[in-house]
Amino acid sequence: MSCNRIETDGMRYLDGEMSDDERAAFEEHLSACGECRQAMNELGSVERLTGMMKIRDPQDDFWEAYWKKLFRRLERKTGWLLMIAGAALIILYALWRGVTDFGEITFVKVVAVIVAAGFVMLLISVIRERLHQYKTDRYKDIER
Ligand SMILES: [Zn+2]
Repeated sequence: MSCNRIETDGMRYLDGEMSDDERAAFEEHLSACGECRQAMNELGSVERLTGMMKIRDPQDDFWEAYWKKLFRRLERKTGWLLMIAGAALIILYALWRGVTDFGEITFVKVVAVIVAAGFVMLLISVIRERLHQYKTDRYKDIER
């Protein structure tokens, strides 16, 4: 093996792309040739550096996916809350109108108020559950 092949062969050696025979010949040359040992050391540190950069990539992907996921969740939660708040406002308005403009008390009106009150209670319970879920979700995201 000649010394001027160390650049290309060194890379293949570090990447583990050599056959057993090639590897043995390469290591034999390294043990005999100080110049190539030195070159391999330099190549090794370059390889480690690029290796470190390679490790960063999936992490970047992870954080990108993390933020996307978080944003999607936040979006969905905000949508949910807006919808619930809107529905609650409509029902509260209808209730208020019903109470202030009740006029004659009829069976249908009483039933409507009972149904509306039940719906509002359900909405409040859903909102509370959502808020609780939001709080615990934040910790779940950090753990992952
Ligand atoms: Zn050499």
